[in-house]
Amino acid sequence: MTRPSKAIIDLAALRANYLWGRSQQAGKAFAVVKANAYGHGAVACATALADIADGFAVAFCAEAVELRDAGITNPILVLEGCFDVDEFQLAQKLSLWVAIHQECQIRDLEHANLPADSVHVWLKVDSGMHRAGFALEQVKPAHERLTKVSAVASITLMSHFSCSDEPDKPTTLDQIEAFEKATRGIPGARSLSNSGAVLAWPQATRDWARLGILLYGADPLPQPAGKLTPVMTLQSTVFAERWLEPGEPIGYGARFVTNTKTRVGLVALGYADGYPRQVPSGTPVAVDGALTTIIGRVSMDMITIDLTPLPQAGIGSKVEFWGKQIDVNVIAQAAGTISYELLCNVKRVPKEY
Ligand SMILES: *Cc1c(COP(=O)(O)O)cnc(C)c1O
Repeated sequence: MTRPSKAIIDLAALRANYLWGRSQQAGKAFAVVKANAYGHGAVACATALADIADGFAVAFCAEAVELRDAGITNPILVLEGCFDVDEFQLAQKLSLWVAIHQECQIRDLEHANLPADSVHVWLKVDSGMHRAGFALEQVKPAHERLTKVSAVASITLMSHFSCSDEPDKPTTLDQIEAFEKATRGIPGARSLSNSGAVLAWPQATRDWARLGILLYGADPLPQPAGKLTPVMTLQSTVFAERWLEPGEPIGYGARFVTNTKTRVGLVALGYADGYPRQVPSGTPVAVDGALTTIIGRVSMDMITIDLTPLPQAGIGSKVEFWGKQIDVNVIAQAAGTISYELLCNVKRVPKEY
């Protein structure tokens, strides 16, 4: 038998999450499938969504090429836009929609010699996140300059929120206000909301939402709405077990020491598969549907779990690390990170759809 560890991807849940997320706001919605669809497999996820998604969004052109090569014909927005003139030519050939977030991209587009009205551009406004985008006072000049580029077929205005998953902070409202002020009087469609904004900030609704983490069923809010279904189940089975006497250490660093007679289950999955090494003993896992905990350090290829409270479990028992029983947000919190990073980091395990 081969190693039983795998990531099971529930494409029906993905579709349901997309449709629910889109229905929560008035606009159309991109399914954001950058970073290999947050670790879920970009081609498989985009194919599963192709008949219902208004469009897809990726970070850079190579990710869009992968989707076009797989036969995806929906609109694809490239969120970081093009890195040089050649990429603008590629983007135009593949009918990609491109973000423009800085002056040199306008310059490259002006020099790309593309056919008239052949590129849809998304002008990115820095409404306060201060990562990518045109500063507020540069938005109107940038827009005006783009209207003079003959290749430009349309200009949509977009911005991104820094704190949309924090419903108690006023930052999102400040960003909406800054965006409105900088773009007043400019015609064209708008796009502001990511998942957090769709879930917590109805004021941000515009023509297009950009749904990322919510598609994958990981609610980014502190108080989840409970409407999303986890798409990925990271699972394996117990493949060895042993009894330890009280006072015996387990694993690297001898960090966990038993205080009673303990039955330890061994699972063939580790940080090389993307499960975070940082989680402490006591982090939950589900074994045949019942909760128990990790004990000892997560190693590269193995994890030790406490089977003492589950006498009926043993070799062959199914172990879920996250999925429908264990919320990936709980594991992320235990590891000091966010669900996004854990999901993106899943590797080595085969995916089963
Ligand atoms: C990644 C990304 C999104 C999706 O964000 P989620 O929080 O996962 O919904 C939306 N917009 C931009 C610009 C992004 O980079």
